[in-house]
Amino acid sequence: MAERRRTRQIMVGDVPVGGGAPVSVQSMTVTKTADVDATLTQIYALAAAGADIVRCTCNEQAAAEGLARIVPRSPVPIVADVHFHHEMALAALEAGVHGLRLNPGNLRKPVEIKQIAAEARDRGVPIRIGVNAGSLHPDLYKRFGGATPEALVESARLELAYFDEVAFHDVKISVKASNVPLMIQAYRLASESFDHPLHLGVTEAGPLPGGLIKATAGIATLLAEGIGDTIRYSLTADPVEEARAGRQLLEALGLRERKGLDLIACPSCGRAEIDVIGVAKAAQAALEEKNLPIQVAVMGCVVNGPGEAREADLGIAAGRHRGHLFIKGQIVRVVPEDEMVEALVAEAEQLVAEGVEARLAAGDATAAAQAEADRQALFAEQGNDVNASEEKVQLIRKTLGQERGASSD
Ligand code: SF4
Repeated sequence: MAERRRTRQIMVGDVPVGGGAPVSVQSMTVTKTADVDATLTQIYALAAAGADIVRCTCNEQAAAEGLARIVPRSPVPIVADVHFHHEMALAALEAGVHGLRLNPGNLRKPVEIKQIAAEARDRGVPIRIGVNAGSLHPDLYKRFGGATPEALVESARLELAYFDEVAFHDVKISVKASNVPLMIQAYRLASESFDHPLHLGVTEAGPLPGGLIKATAGIATLLAEGIGDTIRYSLTADPVEEARAGRQLLEALGLRERKGLDLIACPSCGRAEIDVIGVAKAAQAALEEKNLPIQVAVMGCVVNGPGEAREADLGIAAGRHRGHLFIKGQIVRVVPEDEMVEALVAEAEQLVAEGVEARLAAGDATAAAQAEADRQALFAEQGNDVNASEEKVQLIRKTLGQERGASSD
């Protein structure tokens, strides 16, 4: 991971963005903003899934009025998304939003842009210049011969110049595209060109799982280069998935502290003694309900499992119809196979409550010996030749020998 690029800091409500602040997660509601209760329900779900900031569209008067009711009841800062109509930006400011997103591709009149910026300046509200390759200003499209990285950055630069005219500097910038290499290049160029915080995203990434992969490819590449101050996954899915993905990506990159469960599981192979996928899913569902900040491993066999997952806080590996429960790689209990998930969840709760040392001390003193006996028995049964290749080679030789014998008759 490269050192994070230093940017200016802005405040979106009480969430700092840029200037060394933790990278924040954003998502957007898909409800009608005018439907205050439905929108607030979704905002609460997004916040619970990891969103630090939530954006709502402000596309009509009823939406602006909805925002006036949503903002005071929201658990996280609210940004109004505005396209085409500058009066909607002014109405959103009147509603008390914590930030605006303007699209320079479709809000084009300098006098209106400056009016919004001056109003935002007076109210201390930041604006995101949200450039989008798909809705780039037609003049720039023509001038640069398409939605190139240079054209996207120029769009942001032109908007910044209008803001400068009214001494408004509380700005973050995004230069999104649905094409991942284009998005990466545009952000790299934006990072060299501006010291404003950058909001990262691959726009219109699409449904799962492809959308998740595209968005992660773009966002993670830039974050690893030290670029990016706040992120949004744009998925064609329940927005809770966006918030969850954003949060998990930041945790995986070590950019945010773990807030919830991190379930690791082996991919399974010929050695697996259980249905790893089924057990991992059952464990994930049960553990997610508890929302414990813990890393848990589900491993398909006791031969390699505990060793491979020794860094996990807690794990379980299967073997000879039993589950070997381990904490930081040390076996603490051996349980029947059909009690594996139950035992894992119970131990996870106790581990979070009591800590590693206490739970290691409370372990079954005979567990390590039982586990080693299982392991040795499996080794003896399976050896390293999971595919039984030697037997197969002998069978092939026998079969071919018979065939050759038959054809020479
Ligand atoms: S832990 Fe065991 S079952 Fe899982 S991938 Fe490794 S060797 Fe295969």
